[in-house]
Amino acid sequence: MALMITDECINCDVCEPECPNEAISLGPEIYQIDPGRCTECVGHFDEPQCVQVCPVACIPVNPAHVESRESLWRKYQRLTGKPQTGMPAPGTETARP
Ligand code: SF4
Ligand code: SF4
Repeated sequence: MALMITDECINCDVCEPECPNEAISLGPEIYQIDPGRCTECVGHFDEPQCVQVCPVACIPVNPAHVESRESLWRKYQRLTGKPQTGMPAPGTETARP
């Protein structure tokens, strides 16, 4: 699933630089997540980085973009140009430096 930012966002700007997929940007009023680029951090980290840092917990799952872990993994491969190798088991992915 892609995540989304709700209007509780206080525009603190801490999530944007944490996103490994450059999916977060400042919209007309608050920050927003591009569902085409959000992999829920699959492929990069075990946990969604934006959720970890958001001080007001305003980043839920986007109900309009429900995706399986496999589909998130394919999105990660598409975004990074990585070859179509098998999906690692949850928790075995390594964070990129
Ligand atoms: Fe970016 Fe990960 Fe947050 Fe998605 S879950 S917006 S990929 S930091
Ligand atoms: Fe908004 Fe949370 Fe991102 Fe701060 S961390 S800009 S409050 S979504």
